[in-house]
Amino acid sequence: MSDLAFNEIARPAVAVSPVEKFREFLGTRGKRLTQERETIVREIFADHEHFDSDQIVARLTQTRRDGGRVSRATIYRTLSSLEEAGLIRKVARANDREVYEHDYGYPQHDHFICEKCNQLVEFRNDEISAVLVRVAADHGFRMSGHRLEVHGICAACAKPPTRRHHKLDMI
Ligand SMILES: [Zn+2]
Ligand SMILES: [Zn+2]
Repeated sequence: MSDLAFNEIARPAVAVSPVEKFREFLGTRGKRLTQERETIVREIFADHEHFDSDQIVARLTQTRRDGGRVSRATIYRTLSSLEEAGLIRKVARANDREVYEHDYGYPQHDHFICEKCNQLVEFRNDEISAVLVRVAADHGFRMSGHRLEVHGICAACAKPPTRRHHKLDMI
């Protein structure tokens, strides 16, 4: 079996910035990278977090220091375009909110998703990757990557509630 190349969990350097990548993508569609679209991309790629559309809307629809403001409709349209461009991807979650993560310049990983608190934990496991390669081969499927979403209850939520009745908490 061939060895899979695993990136470090740290973000690898990408040759082309997300903004430039998006500009290229829009160009192929005959669209321009407007100031608004650029603002949205910069906000999203300012740090790596899983983010939901509501958070981005809340942050960007506030009037900024430079007086600029981005409309909710523009944000949703831009999120779809960014997804199409392969810069972000949707991560399924236990609740109904649309959660995204960077898909560009971020290494392969899988997710634990807590059904109680919706916490999303990233993990990497080489054995899972090896198994997937085997299963894919069994199906004649050539795997290029994977992002598992493992649902359940996180350690904090699984703790028995005995601590709630601790003496100090009863004061
Ligand atoms: Zn939890
Ligand atoms: Zn992730």
